[in-house]
Amino acid sequence: MLDISRYRVAPGSEVDLSSLDPDSKAGFEGGKQEGKETLPDLNAKLADLQRRLWAESSQKLLVVLQAMDTGGKDGTIRHVFKGVNPQGVIVHGFTKPNEVELARDYLWRIHPHVPPSGVVSIFNRSHYEDVLVVRVRNLIPEERWRRRYQHINDFERLLTDEGTTIVKLFLHISNEEQRNRLEARLEEPEKRWKLHESDFDDRNLWDQFQTAYEEALTRTSTENAPWYVVPANRKWYRNLVVSSILVDALERMDPRYPDPEPGLEALVVT
Ligand code: ADP
Repeated sequence: MLDISRYRVAPGSEVDLSSLDPDSKAGFEGGKQEGKETLPDLNAKLADLQRRLWAESSQKLLVVLQAMDTGGKDGTIRHVFKGVNPQGVIVHGFTKPNEVELARDYLWRIHPHVPPSGVVSIFNRSHYEDVLVVRVRNLIPEERWRRRYQHINDFERLLTDEGTTIVKLFLHISNEEQRNRLEARLEEPEKRWKLHESDFDDRNLWDQFQTAYEEALTRTSTENAPWYVVPANRKWYRNLVVSSILVDALERMDPRYPDPEPGLEALVVT
């Protein structure tokens, strides 16, 4: 069985990514075949829970997905959310802020995309870029991005106080795995569209990004909005871990179908 608690960043603990194995397949020593056979069951569970969440229409779930380039955010979304009701799931990708967004505080563009009642919102990148790429590329002075960990914790506390469940996932790949994936993208025409020159620049800043991630994970994993570091070199295992974390979160939320309107049982369809 998969023990997801081993991937949760305990609030207050110091994250050292080099000590966390991106190749882990703990709980699934049987390997890829066994893993692939298990995913459909988790997909079905997730779909059932999401249907209840949508019907209940009061709770909401925010999933934050972060990773180094080629870390597998898009593939995770495709595989983990297979079979859900697309009406109740919204994916929002955050790219470079535009002029209008840059003229405001960095959370201004984020807040409108938090999930409304009954909905699962997935952030493909997020407000965390504002302490990651912004830090590594020196886009603002350190004293400004340093204050942001507290802003982010306060913002997330506001959301959870108001009824949003937050799950934050960092897909952890190794430097070598990134090299393999970038090479594959260069070689395979149907993957090449995903490549940008900036991916190669960012790869040169691998160590700085890892350090920025370590500090972000350390400072912003809280009881109400915890981070999970998901081993992501093996895609099949990554999918199982992410699915298990989301099923666990939704099971705790325990969404229920609303009671039917009184008197319905006496009605006859003519
Ligand atoms: P992805 O790499 O997630 O598939 P893109 O190729 O569109 O998507 O890349 C999005 C880019 O936007 C990334 O390089 C990321 O660093 C950048 N980005 C996202 N948020 C910010 C931000 N707040 N400030 C600067 N750059 C950002």
